[in-house]
Parts: sequence; structure tokens; C-alpha cells
Amino acid sequence: MKFSRLAEFFGQLEVTSGRNKMVEVLAEMFKEAQSAEMDKLVYLCQGRLVPFYEPLEFGVGEGLVAEALAKCAGIPKPEIKERFSRKGDFGLVAVEALSHDGTDLDVGEVFDRLKQVATASGAGSVGQKTELLANLLSQMDGEEAKHLLRIVLGKLRLGIGDPTLMDGLSFARVGDKGLRKVLERAYNICSDLGYVAKAFWENGADGLQGITVSVGKPVRPALAERASSAAAIVQRLGYAAVEPKYDGFRCQVHKNGDTVRVFSRNLEDFSDKFPEITGAAGQQIGPRQAIFEGEAISYNPQTGDFYPFQITVQRKRKHGISEMQEKIPLKLVAFDLLFLEGEDYTVRPYAERRQKLQQIIGPGDVLSVTEILETSDAKQVEAFFADKVQRGLEGIVAKRQDAPYQAGARNFNWIKLKRSYQGQLQDTVDCVVIGYWWGRGQRTQFGIGSLLTAVYDPDTDRFHTIARLGTGLTELEWVQMRAALDESKTNEKPLSVEAIVEPDVWVEPKYVIEIQADEITRSPVHTAGRQEGELGFALRFPRMVNFIREDKSPREATTIQEILKMFAAQGKTQAP
Ligand code: ATP
Repeated sequence: MKFSRLAEFFGQLEVTSGRNKMVEVLAEMFKEAQSAEMDKLVYLCQGRLVPFYEPLEFGVGEGLVAEALAKCAGIPKPEIKERFSRKGDFGLVAVEALSHDGTDLDVGEVFDRLKQVATASGAGSVGQKTELLANLLSQMDGEEAKHLLRIVLGKLRLGIGDPTLMDGLSFARVGDKGLRKVLERAYNICSDLGYVAKAFWENGADGLQGITVSVGKPVRPALAERASSAAAIVQRLGYAAVEPKYDGFRCQVHKNGDTVRVFSRNLEDFSDKFPEITGAAGQQIGPRQAIFEGEAISYNPQTGDFYPFQITVQRKRKHGISEMQEKIPLKLVAFDLLFLEGEDYTVRPYAERRQKLQQIIGPGDVLSVTEILETSDAKQVEAFFADKVQRGLEGIVAKRQDAPYQAGARNFNWIKLKRSYQGQLQDTVDCVVIGYWWGRGQRTQFGIGSLLTAVYDPDTDRFHTIARLGTGLTELEWVQMRAALDESKTNEKPLSVEAIVEPDVWVEPKYVIEIQADEITRSPVHTAGRQEGELGFALRFPRMVNFIREDKSPREATTIQEILKMFAAQGKTQAP
């Protein structure tokens, strides 16, 4: 496929807000593609060159783009910058500034040359990147350049998430969404949609069956449902494995001989950030190949006590890692085994995975397994829960003994019971910020007074509003929030958002915050859960309890389906 053709499709998507239409456009695009370029096409739609878990970024900022564009268009850089400050989008500046024709580059070639831009590093790399980008732009017309620049700057904003891409793939092959589930299964196992798309194109749905768990490709995490009480857990699971719910960072550790990689909950590579965990996996895990999961928690090196999340969260910083490692070291409490010496363990029952996990962890200070209580007695579960809460932990996670590990699924194989706060809800809600209002009164100085937040609907790949939030942030957090949001503000409502209310400023869904509320109520103002002739849902008295959750991407926020269940269950929470 020619890059100019891809740009045409992106141009169509950009003006399409109907989700079905988007899927149709994507399907048309995929139909025109060759197998060999399917992976590249999918990565470019994701605004990337590699799957999300690979840390390759473009490393291209606005200054560099201005320089490359100035060079290529023969317009002085200050003039380019001035146009950018008017338009707020380098894509639009490119359309205006470039008057030459393109040379009909293939998608594959553009992709390879973008990879050169991204991989240029070290001394002189800024000059190199600028040169490479300017050369590419000189072979593109304005429309192609528009989308290319949005890709490198991370501002593609087509409103397409992975579910929409999967629907597009399915549509392209069978004319409906029938194969979405099969695609999803493969994606959940390898987290690489480019790879899945290529296998699908080459060998159809059968080709996807061959995709299995492998070391180095993170598995999308299994997730827990909620319960209202210990009795409800026992009623559902019977004889269960009950573990403390530790409050740290979820880590998936991949050991392959001497290479160890650690992935976060949203599959970012944290290997460099958590050197004690990579080191310990080398020393404490005997087998050559293993994938296991656990919660990384910081502890007081003097007393050995675990620290609360507010302290552990400091370990996500990119700088001063060795200093941090000394001040707030990490342990990993392991809770699941997914792969061992070439064998896929996700298909085995939990009881067996857990037993094996215990066997492969050798002596050492960093890795251990979770405490566990195996019982079918609700009273024992309740006492275990009360003990954990009293010791400052979040609560418990109960596990079905005979369940496989279901990648990417939230179901009753795992059930969490969290300490309840005052209020009716079983849990906090992870919401995506999609806009803000300028502040009044005291907040005027920050230029931000409240946030418009949304939950996610994975079926339609859309964000629906659920709360306007104005409390729970410190002054500093308001300032930081405004700065972060302004990076991704948009002139209009983002394509992936469904809303009735209009904030002063729209922002691309990017940041997830954790919200506590008193209850979920029916509301005419919000779109979450709204059906024909019915009201939507809103959070009553929402307040932020955790600033931007970097371990969750927007599509990992609380879903509408979860809100419906929480609405039905509210008022039944168990006091610790
Ligand atoms: P939360 O904000 O409650 O952690 P979540 O959406 O990140 O929610 P859930 O699936 O709802 O994740 O809850 C399971 C999470 O609890 C895991 O992602 C993991 O990080 C954490 N956890 C802590 N202890 C355990 C344990 N013993 N077994 C499984 N998960 C645990």
C-alpha cells in the first residue's frame, strides 16, 4: 500500500465519528493491504512502530519537527513556529507549508525510515533525526506529511483503540465482527496486535490458534471481579485460595536464561526501574525459562515492614534509581505462574500453578510467594480479611482453585474484597480525564477548577462521562494536572468520547485517576450506561484518592459493565 493511500484512510477516519463507519473504513484499508505489511499498518494505526510493550519511542519533539519542516518547506523556523502557535497542530502547518507532490512511497518504506528516526541515538542524534525526517517530508505531499507528523508527535487522535482495530480486521475478512473474540484471545496472549494481524492475514482464524504464551511477549493480565462480603465469595467459589491483596505495582516477570524483563500492569517495560527484581529473578528462580506474576511492594529496610502505596509509587521514577533502591527497596510477592520451561501454564488449574510457583522460588530476600488460606469457611475468610485490613493491606483476593489463567479477562476466577470506605460502593472507580473547566474563585490562579471524567466501554471502544470532579487534588496536583492535560488538549470533543456536558477544554483520553464516591446514581447529565429513553449513571460526591495512575492506560479504566454491577451491588459492602 502506498503511504498516500494510508493518509487518505486516516483522512476519512479523522472526520468519522460513527463507530460502525470507522470499522468499515478500517476494513476497507485492511482489504487493500498485503500480508507482509499488515503488522506495520497496525502499528502505524496505533501511532507506533513496535507493540506497546517495546520501549521504542520516536524521540521527536516540537522543536525538531519545526526544524525539519522549515528545512523542507524553505520557510524560516520562527515562521513555522508562529504558524504552529496559531494552529496548534503541526499536521495542519505541514498541509499549508508543503506545496510539492509526493513520490509515492510505500507504507513499508516509510515505516522503515521512521524506525531509523526512532533508533537514532547518542551524540548528534538530534541532527540525524531532523535530517531523516526532513528527507521523508520532502518526498511527501501535505496530506501525507500531516499524518506522518501527527504519528511522530504522538498526536494521531483518530479515536481508534485496539477493539476497533480488531473489529476492522474481522470485518475485512468475514464482513462482520464475528472473529473479534478469536482475535482478542490471540492478542491477550501475546499483546502484539501487529503480529496477530499478520498471522490472521496469512492463515486466517486458524493461524491465530497457533499463537501461544512465549517468553518476552507479555500476557495481558487476568483481573478480579468484586464481592460485597466474605460469605458472597464462599458462596461463589466454595473451597478457595484466599490471599492478601498487596498494594503495590503488579509485575509480570519474564526470565529467559540470563535475560529478565519486568512488565507493568499495562505492559510497560519496567526492567530498568526495578533492578532488584530482575536481579532476584536471575538468582532465586532455578529454571531457565519462566513467566510469573506478583506485586512489587516497597518496605522499610530497617524494620522489614511493607510501605503503603504512596511510598511505593515513588519507585516509578525514571531517574536516581540506585539511590531509590537503597532508600525504598522492593520485594516481589509472587502470586501466579504462567509459563515454565517451554510449557504454557495458563491452561492449568490455579492450585497446580501455585504449587509449582512455590517450588521454583529458591531462597533469597526479594522473591517470595503470597500468604495463602485455603478454606470454604466464610468465617475464616472474614477473619483473614479483617486481619489484612487491620495490618494496612487493601483487602483480599480469593481464587478459584480449578480455574485456568484467563489472559485479559475480568471474571470470578479471582474475586477481590477491599476494605470499604464510608459510603455504599464496593470499590473505587478508575476514571479517564477527558476535559476540564477553568477554575473560579481560588482556583482561578491554576486555570483549572474541575475535571470531566469518563469510564470505558470495551464493546464500542468509547469513553462515556460519569462525573465532574472538583475535590481531592492538592494545589500542586491541580497545577500538575493542568500541565499534563494541556499536552493533549483538543479543539473539539475527541472522536472516542460520548458526552452531553461540555467542559471548557477537551482533552484526549490519556490519564486515569482513582475516584472514591458515595454511590452511583442515575443522571440525565452523563452518558455512562445511558440507553434509549433511560438515564445514565453518575458518581455521587466524587473525590480523587489517587493522582494519575501510570500503571493504567485509558482503555484499562473501569468499564461501564463494571459500573452496572457496582450499581446493582451497592449498599452491600462489608465493614472491616
Ligand atoms: P485495583 O485498583 O483494585 O488494584 P485493578 O483493576 O488494578 O484494581 P484488579 O484485577 O481489580 O486490578 O485487582 C487485582 C489486582 O490486585 C492485581 O492487578 C494486582 O496488582 C493486585 N494484587 C495484589 N495482591 C494480589 C494477589 N494476591 N493476587 C492477585 N492480585 C493481587
